Amino acid sequence: MNSQISFIQKNEATLLFDKWNHNKVLCGMTTKNGGVSDSPFQTLNTGLHVLDINENVIKNRELVAQSLGFPLQSWVFADQTHENSIQRVTKKDAGKGSKIYDTAIKSTDGLYTNEKNVVLALCFADCVPLYFYDPAKSLAGIAHAGWKGTVLQIGKKMAKTWQTVEGSRLEDIQAVIGPSIGSCCYKVDERVIEKVKQLSIDTDSAITEVNSTEYMLNLKELNRLILLDAGIKEQNIAVSPLCTSCEDELFFSHRRDKGKTGRMMSFIGFKEA
Ligand SMILES: [Zn+2]
Repeated sequence: MNSQISFIQKNEATLLFDKWNHNKVLCGMTTKNGGVSDSPFQTLNTGLHVLDINENVIKNRELVAQSLGFPLQSWVFADQTHENSIQRVTKKDAGKGSKIYDTAIKSTDGLYTNEKNVVLALCFADCVPLYFYDPAKSLAGIAHAGWKGTVLQIGKKMAKTWQTVEGSRLEDIQAVIGPSIGSCCYKVDERVIEKVKQLSIDTDSAITEVNSTEYMLNLKELNRLILLDAGIKEQNIAVSPLCTSCEDELFFSHRRDKGKTGRMMSFIGFKEA
């Protein structure tokens, strides 16, 4: 069985995945609380692309960055497009997309680095944050997997990129499937399920039929199956039980809030040794 893990609440604004902390890996996700944005982005919206006031978003990001001890100019954001491009990030990229959306790394849904003091950040409101860590090669990465990125197997692509480009051994790679919409709240139609069923793996455990045209999709389980298929060991994959739609005190949810909502950011980076 996969191990269910909890993110620990560091403060009202931030949840941290503590298991990697002793290895100086900063890994976590923001909540919707503790920021300065107004309705419908109240209060800690971290997405620059959702019609919130830019100054408020920057203030929110700065509040989080400060509380974590990493100035915002060391953060790197991507222009996310629900595809599966992955980019390696270095210190030269620090600050990209942190205050101005147009400077974000273009058309990218996965980021990784082997450098310290660069924090990789992606924005979420139901989609699945996938975190990756290879202690042997000192690699940290993050990917954005909504249903499109999931069926494009962005998680597998990250693992295979690390294996082929960075020399990682698959058995060394650890992965965390973060808070995101659960199968409890994620009803999809046949258009989505057809894409899921085209995958070359057995996806039955991720799909529950509601009626002849509707299904509950377990995106976390589907990503877990894809990571297993990529060669990551079962004991190295942890899954957060938190559902962004159910936990309405904690998270924005695109589905629950009918599209008018803010974004959390998920982040990973190496602290100074
Ligand atoms: Zn739910």
